[in-house]
Amino acid sequence: SYRDYIRNFCIIAHIDHGKSTLADRFLELTGTKLNKSQVLDKLAVERERGITVRAQSVTMDYAYNNQKYLLNLIDTPGHVDFSYEVSRSLKACQGAILLVDATSGIQAQTYSTYFQAKEAGLHIIPAINKIDHPTAMPEHVADQLKSQFGLENPYFVSAATGKGVQLLLNRVIDVVPRPLGVDDKPFRGFLFDSWFDKHKGVVCLLEIVDGFIKKGDILKSFHTKKEYEIEELGFYRLELEYRNSLEGGQVGFVVLGMKETSEALIGDTFYRVKEGPVEEFPGFKQSKCMVYAGVFPEDSEEYDELSLAIKKYQLEDRSLIVQKDQSTALGNGYRCGFLGLLHMDIFQERIEREHDINMIVTSPSVPYKAVLKTGEEITVENPNELPEKFKIKAYLEPMARVTIFLPSENIGDMIKYCMKKRGLQEEMIILDEKSTIVKFLMPLSEIITDFYSTIKSMTKGMATLDYEHTEYIESPLGIMTLLLNGEKVDALTSMVPREQAYDRGRVLTEKLKDLLPGQLFEVAIQAAFNGKVIARETIKAYRKDVTAKLYGGDQTRRDKLLDKQKKGKKRMKMIGNVRVDSGTFRKLLKS
Ligand code: GDP
Ligand code: MG
Repeated sequence: SYRDYIRNFCIIAHIDHGKSTLADRFLELTGTKLNKSQVLDKLAVERERGITVRAQSVTMDYAYNNQKYLLNLIDTPGHVDFSYEVSRSLKACQGAILLVDATSGIQAQTYSTYFQAKEAGLHIIPAINKIDHPTAMPEHVADQLKSQFGLENPYFVSAATGKGVQLLLNRVIDVVPRPLGVDDKPFRGFLFDSWFDKHKGVVCLLEIVDGFIKKGDILKSFHTKKEYEIEELGFYRLELEYRNSLEGGQVGFVVLGMKETSEALIGDTFYRVKEGPVEEFPGFKQSKCMVYAGVFPEDSEEYDELSLAIKKYQLEDRSLIVQKDQSTALGNGYRCGFLGLLHMDIFQERIEREHDINMIVTSPSVPYKAVLKTGEEITVENPNELPEKFKIKAYLEPMARVTIFLPSENIGDMIKYCMKKRGLQEEMIILDEKSTIVKFLMPLSEIITDFYSTIKSMTKGMATLDYEHTEYIESPLGIMTLLLNGEKVDALTSMVPREQAYDRGRVLTEKLKDLLPGQLFEVAIQAAFNGKVIARETIKAYRKDVTAKLYGGDQTRRDKLLDKQKKGKKRMKMIGNVRVDSGTFRKLLKS
């Protein structure tokens, strides 16, 4: 069977441990063509951030022991925002190379991805990278792998120089099992990745688990129930290589004429219509947005342009959720749902860069839930849309399981900090005399602020972080609103834990006082928690009022004078009788 000569595997590693470099060596070794400009183009955002955003799985030919093998290197996104997609990518593999940097050893993501791969039942091959590096400690890292994971005989490699890389690839063939599945059963395919191609539209990556497919077959999606004719199919070798059919065990691309990537559900099962339904692959989930934010054009004139830009972006991004939104302070815009903070950053950066639109993105919040007195449970994506307080029995908030790697000397400070962030310690693992891993259960909302940068600076940059989303739990939350002369600033409404309400109220009112432009009248800045005012600042009228002597006088002359004063301060908004420029929000939301 074809299957005996196919290996589906992935590389799992902490960020920067050399996954992309090793993948490049494999491509080189197998003579897989690299169309440089194309690859660079696609990965612009990823390269700048040093992470893999979208999986780049690729098929390679490799001759070993006088036998031709087909290797499918299934790439996995390197960020928690895409953890569901990672789990689906792992499902398409039978083996994983666990790659660890010899200069830094096991890190937070090494730890979490190892257990993910193990849970997925993959055969794991340990490899220690960067052995060429002057500060490499390969033996020490080998000890870590043995004591933490019971992994022995790691491969010592340098992805940079190529040393040891061929032996490692040979090992993949020797120990990774052939793909599962049965050749003479009806076709059953597993969709684990998709992307949008300017010319072809949506391209899906399928693993052919049972049976085979050929051009012209009519397929049906298990989860969307939609039917498609196979327009084109073949191998993805960084470029499309067309074939007439794909056989059992192979991994290849399929063009089905889908209009938007949102039709291509990751983890979906496909079968041939004329053969009827097959058993679905377990573990399917719709990916869930865990971060929501308002998105507004800085200049309200640019609303139409922003709308078009978002529409275009959405064609390519299957996970973004978009709803129309309106704010007294920021005008017309959208409320968007993202998988996580990185996903939100990528969205913002691409819209601003590719369309030259300046946006205001409000502080991100997580989707809370509210249990109403009626017993009904609702999801709260926008705190401004909550029903009146008296109807609510309880709030629930989403939690995350956080894995932190850190130098042992910082452990006291870290525990204190995580507890302040409402974390519950779950586990502590001593890696060696210098380093420790701690695990906390923590509200997701506490992580999407400045958590990462704080733990970095606490540990002189040494700490690394990984987390996974877990369940919702009941939490003493309330609604914080900001008022300018009694008028609500809806862009600043947020859900806040009761114990933090006073501090946050004070900080916000003080900040707003600093940032607001001068006003003609005295302005009261108030913070309210569940409708009760808990903090207040006052801005005195800011200048000798040039128009004072004109009050009651000539209106046009007065306007002219004011106009002069406002020079360079365009895009003013009025909230009640208070002038606010969009720059104020930008600064406030950034800090
Ligand atoms: P990824 O985030 O896991 O994909 O890591 P990359 O492949 O992007 O590598 C991160 C950094 O480590 C880059 O600057 C690489 O050049 C460097 N690097 C990767 N492999 C090696 C190696 O074997 N030796 C040395 N000295 N540097 C390496
Ligand atoms: Mg990479």
